[in-house]
Amino acid sequence: MADQPSLAEIASCVSGYDPNALPVAQAQEFIARLVPRVQAVEKLAIRSALGRVLAEDIVSPIDVPAHDNSAMDGYALRGAELAAAGDSVFGVAGTGFAGAQFDGAVPAGRCLRIMTGAVMPAGLDTVVPQEFCRLEGDRVIVPAGVVRTGDNRRLAGEDLARGEPALKAGRLLRPADLGMVASLGLAEVPVRRRLRVAFFSTGDELRSIGEPLPEGCAYDSNRYTIHAMLTRLGVELLDLGVVRDEPAALEQAFRDAAASADAVITSGGVSVGEADHTKQVMKRLGDVLFWKIAMRPGRPMAIGRIATGDRAAILFGLPGNPVAVMVTFYAFVRDALLAMSGAAVEPLPMLRAASTEAIRKKPGRTEYQRGIVARGPDGAWQVRITGSQGSGILRSMSEANGLVVLHHGQGNVAAGEAVDVLPFDGLV
Ligand code: AMP
Ligand code: MG
Repeated sequence: MADQPSLAEIASCVSGYDPNALPVAQAQEFIARLVPRVQAVEKLAIRSALGRVLAEDIVSPIDVPAHDNSAMDGYALRGAELAAAGDSVFGVAGTGFAGAQFDGAVPAGRCLRIMTGAVMPAGLDTVVPQEFCRLEGDRVIVPAGVVRTGDNRRLAGEDLARGEPALKAGRLLRPADLGMVASLGLAEVPVRRRLRVAFFSTGDELRSIGEPLPEGCAYDSNRYTIHAMLTRLGVELLDLGVVRDEPAALEQAFRDAAASADAVITSGGVSVGEADHTKQVMKRLGDVLFWKIAMRPGRPMAIGRIATGDRAAILFGLPGNPVAVMVTFYAFVRDALLAMSGAAVEPLPMLRAASTEAIRKKPGRTEYQRGIVARGPDGAWQVRITGSQGSGILRSMSEANGLVVLHHGQGNVAAGEAVDVLPFDGLV
């Protein structure tokens, strides 16, 4: 902990840092500099490793495939024996089946009946697919020009050569990766330990499901959205409930969260005009900054470190509005938690879609509008903004299938103009 830079030091490294009008890109850069990576590594059986972060490069201990083998059912032969014109005629020396090595010899002028995946005997370099050949008695007739030397032969080590890195550390393991690890004959993979994330909601007006809803109160929905987004990220969760707006209760919640988790996510209580105690307690317990981010929705946000004993947890104090919670999660928390998990973070892929209508947009802030993307009559992607864009209207998020990202410098969008859309499918 002592060797970690203070928040002020990190701020001094981010060019154009202004906590009161912080562009999204600068906030992302700041957070990337702030977050530490979990170090602990565990070995997992392949089947348990989906979605986990690879801790070390996987180097192939074998050639894959292990031998030259046939890519087709057909006849293996020497390409040099194929006539340039007219038919070539070969006798058949035997059959090579996948998994059962043909151990005879294939003399000159002969071929081997061969199945897909069967080992190519030494000297043979070409496979003629059976549909190109004619059989006459025990002879195989190959017309000229149906294959070239080397066709339909898979070379040993073609997928992966022995000693070559198959997967790089930092990889978020996907189904194909796990299949590839299995193809190397490895039973286990080294992965980083799962990140632990604690979260709670703040606000005296919030009620939990099952409680009566007095005048002026609302059910806590943020904890459910956050729970769902974190579940998709594959982190370990610690749900600390709704915390009352009392210094002692807040302090206890922050201390419990920071003592047991790598990251703490709260929602609510960080806006400018907040009368409640959340900000005060954050300030007292940690090294915390209160930002006004040049974005919509989601302007206020707290970021920092809360130390307990000899460890520190990263704090993400998200705004209270339900849409702002999701947008700030996708804009900042997702990448930060992936980085903390040890993953090599890739920017989320976006679609380009034509806006069906004009959109008003002020340059100088990033706007995330909820949109519905669909194929237009010409087959190209189109996006329509969902109705009201108020940051408290969670329904707009639920109806949408993507976020229209209007970038910092961008101005008004004309109808038909292409915009970037972050599709929800495939998000964490
Ligand atoms: P705040 O940032 O605390 O001022 O909250 C902004 C708005 O979001 C207020 O209308 C809150 O009632 C609402 N809000 C805050 N937290 C939650 C939550 N956990 N679930 C639903 N709405 C919330
Ligand atoms: Mg509040």
